[in-house]
Amino acid sequence: MPELPEVETTLRGIEPHLLNQRVVRIIVRDPRLRWPVPAEVNKAEGQRFVSLSRRGKYLLLNLEKGGLIIHLGMSGSLRILQQPLAPEKHDHVDIELDNGVCLRFNDPRRFGAFLWVDGAMESHELLSKLGPEPLSGEFTADYLYRRSRNRKVAIKNFIMNGHVVVGVGNIYASEALFMAGIHPQRAAGRVSGQRYEGLVAAIRDVLSRAIQQGGTTLKDFVNSDGAPGYFSQELLVYDRAGSECFQCGTPIRQKVIGQRSSYYCPGCQK
Ligand SMILES: [Zn+2]
Repeated sequence: MPELPEVETTLRGIEPHLLNQRVVRIIVRDPRLRWPVPAEVNKAEGQRFVSLSRRGKYLLLNLEKGGLIIHLGMSGSLRILQQPLAPEKHDHVDIELDNGVCLRFNDPRRFGAFLWVDGAMESHELLSKLGPEPLSGEFTADYLYRRSRNRKVAIKNFIMNGHVVVGVGNIYASEALFMAGIHPQRAAGRVSGQRYEGLVAAIRDVLSRAIQQGGTTLKDFVNSDGAPGYFSQELLVYDRAGSECFQCGTPIRQKVIGQRSSYYCPGCQK
């Protein structure tokens, strides 16, 4: 599933091809995504892209008037085509530009979204209640500490809640909690301010490293032979059940927490 680093890499990959270019045509081959692709997306035709940004895992493509919101869902990807290429199965939407480039949205499982916004993007209902960006100055140990007082919810579910902080997916939550030495099932309200310092640093570190690594895959956005290859970094606990902890040698455990597979070291995480 594309997580925040993949979405950020997608943004950086498509931005140079779209910025200041005019939309000639939007082709919707199949509108049945998570929500139906609205007919208003054709309001983009004739307009230039003035800026591209990301909020959580939403890509915001701002035009002169209004804009498009794209979410990659479980299996979505965007690809830059520099020459026309016959669409394949799951190529649901194309944005054709006046520089000859086509941005193609592919999504086999169709949990993604492709939406039109008339006014300001930030006030859209999908974005207005989102928590701070994990790499922004608003995301601090003090913020997490205050938000978590009297909360009995497991710390892992707490940091994966998009109202608390956006873009901390399952893999990165497991990794960051290991780096901070916090047991994923510990109640969020029972994590000290000092340990939140470590957790915030770990979340920033794991996400920035993934984004940095993603930079090396940017060329795939103009490679017409396949979808962008998502990247995997060296993982410390995720998907390592039964293997020895790199830090203490204890076998890594797997447990379902909040319906998601969680991995942790019972020796290092308390
Ligand atoms: Zn360990």
